[in-house]
Amino acid sequence: MAVGGMAAKARARALVPNLGKPLGVALLGLGNYAETELAPSLQETGLCRLAGLVSGHPDKAARWAWKYGVPPKNIYTYDNFDRIADNPDIDIVYVVTPPALHREYVVRAAKAGKHVISEKPLATSITDCDAMIAACHDAKVRFSVGYRLFFDPYHAELRRLAKDGDYGPLNRMTGRFCFVAPGWIWRIDKRLAGGGPMMDLGIYLIQASCMAQNGATPVAVTARELPKKRPELFKEVEETMEFGLEFAGGGRFEGLTSFNQGGNDYEAEGPKGWIKFKSAFSYQGIAADTSDRGALHFPMPVHQQARQMDDFAECILTGRATPVPGEMGRRDLRIIQAVYEAARTGRRTPV
Ligand code: NAD
Repeated sequence: MAVGGMAAKARARALVPNLGKPLGVALLGLGNYAETELAPSLQETGLCRLAGLVSGHPDKAARWAWKYGVPPKNIYTYDNFDRIADNPDIDIVYVVTPPALHREYVVRAAKAGKHVISEKPLATSITDCDAMIAACHDAKVRFSVGYRLFFDPYHAELRRLAKDGDYGPLNRMTGRFCFVAPGWIWRIDKRLAGGGPMMDLGIYLIQASCMAQNGATPVAVTARELPKKRPELFKEVEETMEFGLEFAGGGRFEGLTSFNQGGNDYEAEGPKGWIKFKSAFSYQGIAADTSDRGALHFPMPVHQQARQMDDFAECILTGRATPVPGEMGRRDLRIIQAVYEAARTGRRTPV
């Protein structure tokens, strides 16, 4: 672990004195994001630690257990996972499967009495979001979405600018978040993903725009699906979506998300200045220029996800509300659904 990571771990622990043992996190779904981001981040957290694994692949789980020192009694399959209820080593279940499966595992984790983090997008229907929120409420466990960028210092600066009004209201927002799909991926399977780039990447543009508007929800949206260049691949979902968000205070976002081109930028401008992000939504390497201060430099010694998970652990330990609750994931799905509706009808659609 980097020296910065160790310092962050110590800082996180100092926030909650008399902590005792850090909270145990079980990762459910040992795919790419869990492997490359969440497990390494859990080596940098101070208030929680990787304590359990849930996987459909026993060989993979065994490899992970060896690498991270997870005892065999803390390894579960999707079938026997409900027994996690009896395991005091596990406090939090982090659901990292494709979105259509989030509901089942969040509900089962809540019923097992565990706090839950679900990856984004929260689910593929509002009915599922409601079931997940209700299950966590009924079980009296905490529920959060894996919105890592809320814990990134550049995005925190965007929220600060919105709050303090250095540039006046940030009413002109633009952005793109895109990548080129290499071929079939579950992200273009409507049953698993609920949609295409709008679900997977457009959600980040929505998050940033709501932040730039002091947490407001857009009142209406507009959208246009662009003609497909690879119709043989994008059979079920959009390839590229242009969309606009309209806020009650006069703020307007215009942008685009795609699985068939590049683009990872975001800009917010007010009457007195602007902030422009490059690599706006990346895990590392986010950069921002401003109209008055030039390039901003925020040191980030740990993964965004380490801060995200430590913040959730701190919320559980202190009773503070999480800034990224399940309800926020539901809000964002509502906005995405309005975008799909606007693209279908060609009309400005209220959220
Ligand atoms: P992935 O395909 O690499 O991993 C998915 C995991 O779910 C695999 O371990 C797979 O075995 C498991 N799984 C269980 N049941 C499955 C089924 N029926 N079909 C397919 N997979 C099944 O995907 P990923 O990139 O790790 O994404 C997982 C989740 O994390 C998604 O919700 C995604 O949106 C989210 N994610 C978030 C970020 C972020 O920055 N917050 C980044 C990447 C992915």
